[in-house]
Amino acid sequence: MDFQLTDEQAAVRELCRDFAREVVAPAAEKLDREHEFPYDIVRRMGEMGLFGLPFGEQYGGAGGDFLAYCLAVEEIARADAGVGITLEAAVSLGAAPIHDFGTEEQKSELLPDLLAGRRLWAFGLTEPEAGSDAGATRTRAELSGTEWVINGAKQFITNSGTRISAGVTITALTGPREISAILVPAGSPGYHILEPYRKLGWHSSDTHPLAFDGCRVPEANLLGKRGGGYGQFLHTLTGGRIAIGAHSVGLAQACLDAALAYAQERKAFGKAITQFQAVQFKLADMAMEIELARTLVWRAATGYMRAPESSGEVRKLAAMAKLYASETAKRCADQAVQIHGGYGFIEDYPVARYWRDVKINEIGEGTSEVQRMLIAREIGAG
Ligand SMILES: Cc1cc2nc3c(=O)[nH]c(=O)nc-3n(C[C@H](O)[C@H](O)[C@H](O)COP(=O)(O)OP(=O)(O)OC[C@H]3O[C@@H](n4cnc5c(N)ncnc54)[C@H](O)[C@@H]3O)c2cc1C
Repeated sequence: MDFQLTDEQAAVRELCRDFAREVVAPAAEKLDREHEFPYDIVRRMGEMGLFGLPFGEQYGGAGGDFLAYCLAVEEIARADAGVGITLEAAVSLGAAPIHDFGTEEQKSELLPDLLAGRRLWAFGLTEPEAGSDAGATRTRAELSGTEWVINGAKQFITNSGTRISAGVTITALTGPREISAILVPAGSPGYHILEPYRKLGWHSSDTHPLAFDGCRVPEANLLGKRGGGYGQFLHTLTGGRIAIGAHSVGLAQACLDAALAYAQERKAFGKAITQFQAVQFKLADMAMEIELARTLVWRAATGYMRAPESSGEVRKLAAMAKLYASETAKRCADQAVQIHGGYGFIEDYPVARYWRDVKINEIGEGTSEVQRMLIAREIGAG
């Protein structure tokens, strides 16, 4: 077993680490405070090839691999969780389903702009009455002549409402117990992007509810096979969960970085608080858990690269990586605030933002409870 990164993977990590430190981190506090979408950073990440990292060169991808992409997500999220999730959602939820299930025509029309980060595509699975129970979709699409007529609503959709958002892939009922995926371009008649949410964290990322009110798109916008929507979103979420695991590792690492630097400076009882064993143990536990989470993400990413069609084993590893990394990040954010004492509760210190940002990692792309259900099923316990 070899835990060494290839030269290409190490180079991607280095490039993203430098970019995150020099460009993303200095902007993070203002993006968070002003709830600002990072257009300029997205453009630059596009020029660096980050949106096309795990895809082949045929449609403008960078020809890297899935682990390299996870390393990029980790490094960007370490500087700003909202920017990190913008990248993750654009790649894993936006471009990947089109790449994996699209027709030649759909791919050549949409992917070049998406893989260059010039446009963003969203993924609309969650509904007001269908979250964890994603199969309970109520949105309907009916064929009328050569068009799908869509009625329904989607909830909490990332990257759906920016000025570079090009559209959304939705799941909809196309018959009794038949879920299909349909591409809905921005500007389609009857497609409404509603006011953005007022969120607890991830302030630099874009999230809206969507409404479909007799929305019409061409019949050819069906993605993959009619009735294949359920399998498609399970596959999409497997890759997405590994990438969310990487995002969580980045956030956890940011907590350790900030807590260690603060503890080395802060004095109490005449010495730096790193001299107290209680503080040392918190930092040691954070470092150990981050290393474990990162190892699990790498393992799941490597499995996914070998079997991208999502075998049961890969689904289990993806759920474990997402679950363990997000809960590690949550613990690390708690401890980082604790090590900062009262200052950790003040927005001048980035750990306050990390603490707000981290909670959703235990919820988005499947809650911790859903990951435990998946793992239990895969080990034969459910
Ligand atoms: C900022 C943000 C961005 C998001 N981006 C997207 C996106 O781009 N696309 C998209 O489709 N969705 C997106 N989501 C939605 C997200 O994936 C859902 O919120 C999540 O899957 C949970 O669904 P829910 O909110 O309906 O909670 P529910 O499903 O209502 O769950 C409520 C609680 O019940 C628990 N629960 C439910 N069923 C069970 C069970 N069988 N056993 C045990 N416990 C259970 C859950 O774990 C949870 O604790 C986003 C959400 C947020 C907040």
